[in-house]
Amino acid sequence: MLVEKTVTKPSQEAPNQLIEISRRKLMRSATVIVSGAIVLAGAITATHADADAAKSSQKAADYQTSPKNGQRCVDCALFQAPSSCQVVNGTISRAGWCNLFSAKS
Ligand code: SF4
Repeated sequence: MLVEKTVTKPSQEAPNQLIEISRRKLMRSATVIVSGAIVLAGAITATHADADAAKSSQKAADYQTSPKNGQRCVDCALFQAPSSCQVVNGTISRAGWCNLFSAKS
């Protein structure tokens, strides 16, 4: 009777051991995925920060949220819809203007 139980138990525990191994693998995989996501998010943030650093500040470009002499950001070749600019930092209004205005051709 004791021998039979000893033989029976490992076979009954085997599925539990497999589940435990699977949990470990799952946790390792989850850790790798989360770590990768953090690294990727950092890289994206760094790229975005680098792009912003290369642009002029709104103050340096004399940016204003209203048109000037009929010129508006939406008519500028450097405007990026919906609210960005290739050369000026920050949120840019379609109706705005700055001294870097370049009319669309
Ligand atoms: S007018 Fe200035 S802020 Fe507006 S899109 Fe053109 S360069 Fe950018």
